[in-house]
Amino acid sequence: MSISDTTLPPVPPDLVKREDWFLAPYAMHSRLSAGRMHPEPPHPYRGPYQRDRDRIIHSAAFRRLSGKMQVFMGEMGDYHRTRLTHTMEVTALARTLARPLRINEDLVEALALQHDIGHPPFGHTGEEILDDCLKHHGGFNHNRHTLRVVEALEQRGLNLPGLNLSREVLEGQSYRVEKQTLRQRPLLEVQIVEAADSIAYDTHDADDALELQLLRIEDLLKITLWDRAAERVRERFTNLDALQFRRAVVHELLDWQTTDLLHNTRDRLERLEISTVEDVRQAEWIVRPDPELAEQKAELESYLFDRVYRHPIICKMREEADHLIREVFARLLQQPEPSIPAEFLRFNEGRELPNIVGDFIACQTDRSLKALYAALTG
Ligand code: MG
Repeated sequence: MSISDTTLPPVPPDLVKREDWFLAPYAMHSRLSAGRMHPEPPHPYRGPYQRDRDRIIHSAAFRRLSGKMQVFMGEMGDYHRTRLTHTMEVTALARTLARPLRINEDLVEALALQHDIGHPPFGHTGEEILDDCLKHHGGFNHNRHTLRVVEALEQRGLNLPGLNLSREVLEGQSYRVEKQTLRQRPLLEVQIVEAADSIAYDTHDADDALELQLLRIEDLLKITLWDRAAERVRERFTNLDALQFRRAVVHELLDWQTTDLLHNTRDRLERLEISTVEDVRQAEWIVRPDPELAEQKAELESYLFDRVYRHPIICKMREEADHLIREVFARLLQQPEPSIPAEFLRFNEGRELPNIVGDFIACQTDRSLKALYAALTG
């Protein structure tokens, strides 16, 4: 049997059986997928979302996540998260939630691995500066750029644009772009990834900030969520040293919030009598934590914003990134070649030059952008 065999059923029969047996009726079943923009022959034993996951993992944009910062730059050490390890943590949490809820793990995994693939170098600072550089040309948004990467910029060596992912994977990312304007709720698989992203970054940003000594644990313990997690750790363990205690609290924060989310989601599925994908689309937002926990999470987020994301060390880094990106943007606008390969320019023919430059910068890693700056400014 060859992969191009067009007589194959659209979804491997074993997968259909497995999903019918294992997935809940409100999960997105592979056989109900709306397919791909450009139809392709089915695969003999991989389902559509498994193929999407593999395409994302094998893309150059995914590999570049290892060279993109999450909150802290590479030079600051080797403990903290990069954009890649953040993505892996989100994927792990999302799958943990997906299995007991009996929703489609393959789709969840593809969505989670994709979610930050369009992040520019230098994290949210990079995004804000690019957005400002492109303010007269439609702006820049990392979620929208993710769609641009998977729909156009990535090349699989086939005569198709981008990765040609399943419509559900693209829809999940479109939701991230158009959150406010969508009338329908996204799939549960999408809601799970949103929740996992948020639990992951709140927890690991605090952990990284502690390791980098931008925060002290005594300060974090004044925040209700951390204090309660610490209390839960003390109830179970005694005689932990400082580092063991910190690791245990971080673990507890992940475990506690994930478990809470699971219980609350199950309750809501039951109360709202959700039994189909259509019910999910029409219902209120289903994957939400307990309101009290949500409030405490918000308190932690605003604390992290003031004390970590606006820490003098981070602000200094923001200034550097600001200068670097603006300078590279201006120079590439004046003289795109040869820094932007002719192939990239040809591929983007018809697009305005500022947008091409913006895409090109967004595709760089922190390191390659610094090297480009050095080359352009001598
Ligand atoms: Mg993320």
